[in-house]
Formats: sequence, C-alpha cells, structure tokens
Amino acid sequence: DTLKDTLISAIRTIPDYPKPGILFRDITTLLGNASAFRRAVDQLVYPYAGTKIDKVAGMEARGFILGGAVAHQLSAGFIPIRKKGKLPHETVRIAYSLEYGIDEMEMHKDAVQPGEKVILVDDLIATGGTAVGAVSLLRQMGAEIVAACFVIDLPDLGGRKKLEEMGVKVRTLVE
Ligand code: 5GP
Repeated sequence: DTLKDTLISAIRTIPDYPKPGILFRDITTLLGNASAFRRAVDQLVYPYAGTKIDKVAGMEARGFILGGAVAHQLSAGFIPIRKKGKLPHETVRIAYSLEYGIDEMEMHKDAVQPGEKVILVDDLIATGGTAVGAVSLLRQMGAEIVAACFVIDLPDLGGRKKLEEMGVKVRTLVE
C-alpha cells in the first residue's frame, strides 16, 4: 500500500470529542504503530536531509513527540512552544486564536538566535491559529522559518492557506 494509506489507517477517528459534533483525529494509534510512526517521521524529514536546520520547534503537546523525533533525525536542536506559565526561564508570549476564544503560548527568549533556520512541527493543522501564533513568535525572535510540517491537514478549515499567506512553506502528509 501507499504511505498515505498506511498513515490514514493508523489514525483513529473519535466522534464527538472533545465536544459533540467534532470528529477528533487521534494520532496516538499512529504513534503506537512502530512502522507508521517511523514512516511518518521519515516523510516529514526527508526534504531537509543534508540541509542545515538549526532548530525544530514543536507545539505542546503532540508537536513535542513528532518534533523531537524530527530534530533527532536532522541533528537539530528542539524548541518547545508551550501554553503560558509552563516554562521556567524568561519567555516571550503571544496571544493566538482558538476555535472559540483566545489563549497564549510562550517560548524561552534565548531558545532561538536571529537568523537560525527553524522547522515548525505539529500533528495537525486546522484553522491555523496555533501555527500562526508559533510562526509569529519565532519570527519575532529572528528565526527564519524554513517550513511548517504537519502529519494531518484539515483543508476545509483554511490553516494551510493562512500560513502560506504569511510566506511560510507548508508540508502535510495526509488530508
Ligand atoms: P488550529 O490551531 O490549526 O485550529 O488547531 C490545531 C491544533 O489543535 C494543533 O495543535 C492540534 O494538535 C490540535 N487539534 C485540533 N484538532 C485536532 C484533531 O482532530 N486531532 C488532533 N490530534 N489534534 C487536533
């Protein structure tokens, strides 16, 4: 079978989670499937093999799992982007939009140096609010965003388009 079929069949769909009417795409089944996990990470990584990536930034919490694996493969550092109040040192903070309302995310001020090449990783892009916030925060600190990479795109929600309008190259594995 194709890579896409492998990944799609490894993702579990949970109806009415976390709220009635929402179809939640659960990647814990993909993470627990050794060959699907490896193939997903390999597929996220391969365009950057042999190019210099300084850091991978991952969004709490599923972005940590995928981003950590991607960083290791690329011999890059890892930047955790977290919900507010979780990081111990000096942070920069940005408000970002959720489906209903807003929240704030943070990273450490010294997590990235101006001009460093960064790849952003998360499991899924929906409205793009989370990724737009993370890109803005990283750019504010002088990072060069090489790409934003996701296992799953929900294209009807328009997140990819928002990132592309900000000049970010977007890569997704399945829709
Ligand atoms: P966005 O900000 O693009 O609307 O939503 C994306 C963020 O919410 C990501 O951090 C992602 O982990 C989480 N998210 C939203 N919907 C889902 C879903 O159906 N499945 C998973 N695994 N994560 C989701």
